[in-house]
Amino acid sequence: MSRHNLTRRGFLKLAGATGVAASAGITGIPSPLKAAQSNDAKSEMFLHYDRGVQSPSFCEMCFWNCGLNVYTRNGRIHKLEGNPLNPNSNGHLCAKGNSGIDSTYDADRIQHPLIRVGKRGEGKFKKVSWEEASQYVFDKLSPLMKKYGPETLATFMHGTGEPYVHALTKALGSPNIVVPAYSQCLGSREMAWILTFGTGVSGHETYDMANTRHMILFGRNMAGALQVREAEDFAEGLARGAKLTYVDPRLSESCVNATDWLQINPGTDLALALGFIHVIIRDNLVNMDFVSKYCYGFDQLSAHVAQYTPDWASNKCGIDAKTIERIAWDFAKYAPHVVAVPPRRMTRYGNDTQTVRAIAILNALMGNWGVPGGLWVRSGVPIDLPEYEEPKQPTTRRADGAGKGEKYPLAPQNLGRTNGMIEATLTQKPYPIKAWMLYGTNPLFHSSAGTNDIYKAIENLDLLIAIDTQFSDTVMYADVVFPESTYLERDDAPFVQKDKIPFIALREAAIKPIYDTKGCFDICKGIAEKFKIAHWFEHSPTQQIADLYKALSPEQAKKLKDDGVLRFEAVDPYPLASGATPTFRTATGKVQLYVPNLTDFYQEHGDDFAPMPIYKDPIMADSKDTFRLLFGKSPRHTHARTQNNWLLLELQDDNPIWIHPKDAKRLGFSDGQMVYMVNPKTGVKAEHAEKIKVTKRIKEGAVFIHHGFGHTTKAWSRGYEKGIGDNFFVSDDIDPISGAAAFNNGFVTLVKA
Ligand code: SF4
Repeated sequence: MSRHNLTRRGFLKLAGATGVAASAGITGIPSPLKAAQSNDAKSEMFLHYDRGVQSPSFCEMCFWNCGLNVYTRNGRIHKLEGNPLNPNSNGHLCAKGNSGIDSTYDADRIQHPLIRVGKRGEGKFKKVSWEEASQYVFDKLSPLMKKYGPETLATFMHGTGEPYVHALTKALGSPNIVVPAYSQCLGSREMAWILTFGTGVSGHETYDMANTRHMILFGRNMAGALQVREAEDFAEGLARGAKLTYVDPRLSESCVNATDWLQINPGTDLALALGFIHVIIRDNLVNMDFVSKYCYGFDQLSAHVAQYTPDWASNKCGIDAKTIERIAWDFAKYAPHVVAVPPRRMTRYGNDTQTVRAIAILNALMGNWGVPGGLWVRSGVPIDLPEYEEPKQPTTRRADGAGKGEKYPLAPQNLGRTNGMIEATLTQKPYPIKAWMLYGTNPLFHSSAGTNDIYKAIENLDLLIAIDTQFSDTVMYADVVFPESTYLERDDAPFVQKDKIPFIALREAAIKPIYDTKGCFDICKGIAEKFKIAHWFEHSPTQQIADLYKALSPEQAKKLKDDGVLRFEAVDPYPLASGATPTFRTATGKVQLYVPNLTDFYQEHGDDFAPMPIYKDPIMADSKDTFRLLFGKSPRHTHARTQNNWLLLELQDDNPIWIHPKDAKRLGFSDGQMVYMVNPKTGVKAEHAEKIKVTKRIKEGAVFIHHGFGHTTKAWSRGYEKGIGDNFFVSDDIDPISGAAAFNNGFVTLVKA
């Protein structure tokens, strides 16, 4: 450890208080968090501090995109501060956000365009010019597209530059676009919300936790899967006296202040939600004023849930029937100022869309749509934004089973399915996939298709193109690598957010790229030029910022320039409370307790597609010494992106395996003992041992680790093989409605090292 160790820790504890507090268990009192990070406190502290030149930006250490002011002196970034005027984060940053400078000044970054010279995975590349790299893509991809059709190209993307990769793929003629955020995170939740309410809950969710009286979090770890404003709203709600029912086999950071912790059997959340619904309907606790006016299918639902008694639910989920009754009554008591919240990553047990459907129904029965403390409603920005023509989505059949007439008919064609695309590449069916383009994604690490199968799928590729800032595990297998500038080094298109307070935020390059890197727009344009389709790339991010200024009034333009953000008045986040008549963009125009547009699929595919959720038992372990693997986010890291960030590694550089004391005792394990994790289905054993953490915070029969550790990329001088990874051990099951992954059906055994 360096001699500056103590100083660094001190800095992180001060500047990254949100993350540290959350990791230690959020207290539920927002004031200490805010006091530690408020702009006032910082202003006081840095009264005589020369900040240097200020540039507007928004954070990209995760995709919440908190508002930033970036300060440079002598052409070097020396400080990131939250922008207090940005309503996305109100001036606050988490530890990850505060550590963002390292994303730029990290010598492990990809520093030049590269072409592979060694074997795939060896990490041997030669430095080439941008011209050579783009020409390489043209020379390799053109014959493949000629031989197999343009659809032989599949692209996987995650990041601010997604629209450009999207446009490039479509302009090249391939329909095979995959956005893993759908099939590996939000897909089932979005699908359920759309089927019920007609709109998705999206990545910036509309739960009014700051004003709620009772929130039920179904495994939603607000304080651990940390996004600043959400975590603050959560803490504010608790500080105002909201009750928190926390449902999780694991005691997470969010659970610390729970009124009730329901340590549920994994995979049975649907049983619990159906039990709540049963009690609420049976005992006439429904908000019938809302339901009779705005909901469709209440009679069918009443008849359907009669079977799901508290005793039945208790038998499935392991929560006492009296507790189910009590909480259902208490939840209804505070209606409509209550909210039931599904997990963010809803890729769990294969019944995920139906589980979120039940949670959505629970909200609807409370009539909490459009009222304080319930579900608020977004407003858009009230100006005509510049519009740019995009290539049309090709109508060629997709390879991943997403879309009408395919195995996953409801999975959206513009987002696709990661696992399906990997399977198509592995089997070369329904047609050959011979080229991948990856933008900011790491399929070797982030997919449940089975990491061994992904290695084999990559062997089937004749071309692997990577656009990234860093050498991820999968970038090491690329044939050609385009280094992207970091979010602190580039202009990006204005960030336009529909919200409670809708806003537009700017990101302007705080410094010139320190290495030979470019923004994703310029990278895609360079490739497009070779294929003579560069006319789709006429509006650079810098141009888009200029176009935005032209669309604003002089006062608005001045405000945006001065503040880095432009806030607008919300139309009304609580329209129902204000007496407005809501509209729901569902097939019936109402909130769908019963989904008539699923009935055809129900007849064709059976119970999985039922118009009302039907409970199905989860897959269980086949022996008591085989454990269900649960994983979740650490508040100190983002997915698998930050485990080489030295600042964040100082906060967490290991990944102990949580196990219940009874399970540990039976196996003869003691706290801190080193063990190997084994996948009994594939026989794969973790490459290195990890220590165990014996704790009652995890349910018997399950083990827990944080996601994102265990990297195999030797280009990471600090993060290489730090901690154990989940990617070899999660399941390859699929949620039938959304087509998204069901990671938590994976099981492991533990062997003494
Ligand atoms: S939550 Fe943290 S990492 Fe995510 S955008 Fe905000 S400051 Fe950055």
